[in-house]
Order: sequence, then C-alpha cells, then structure tokens
Amino acid sequence: MTELVIGLISAVVSWAITHAYYKRSSVNVPEWAKPIIERLPEAPPSRDQLIDLFHEALQDGELIPDPNFGYVACPRCKAPSTEFDTHEQFDEEREDRYLVVRCKRCGWSDFTEL
Ligand SMILES: [Zn+2]
Repeated sequence: MTELVIGLISAVVSWAITHAYYKRSSVNVPEWAKPIIERLPEAPPSRDQLIDLFHEALQDGELIPDPNFGYVACPRCKAPSTEFDTHEQFDEEREDRYLVVRCKRCGWSDFTEL
C-alpha cells in the first residue's frame, strides 16, 4: 500500500511537473486527480506537500482507494475505483482462491491470491 501510494504520488508529481502550468492550461485532468489538482499551489509542489494533499483528499473522501488493492483509479483508463468490480475466483487445478478486481469501463484487471 505504501509503495503504491508513493508510486501514485510520483506519477502525480511527474504529471504535475509536465503540466507545470496546469491551472492556466486547458489540459484534461483525470477525474480522480481533480481534488488534488485543485488544491495544488501555483508553484510545483514538493513531494511532502503532495503527500499532504493526497492524505487530505483521502480523509475528505474525495479519493477512494479500492479496499482490497489500494488503487484509487484504474491504471489504464483512470476511471475511479468506484467503477471497479471485485469478485473471487477459484482455480481448481491449483486449489487457489484469487481475488480479482476489474475496471468496468475498460476491462483492465488485477488479482491477488487469497
Ligand atoms: Zn479502466
């Protein structure tokens, strides 16, 4: 979870730096990033500021991580985690149970062994 959050924050940082003038540009911001972007200061924020912003957005319920996988948005199409579908799958040959998460919008999926 921590690694994922750091990865996500790094992604937001590089995205924000790429679009350093995000507030003045008409870049299409992914839905899930809006709460963070709207709080960004005029200057590119520091990593610590971004972590604070991320946590604030989590606390306010503006970002909702998937409870099982921690994704706040689909890695492929950026749909919010509320558009995920989660189900269990049983592999009879290996006798393993898997938890599968799937994005209803684009079909991306991930799984974890139970
Ligand atoms: Zn998707």
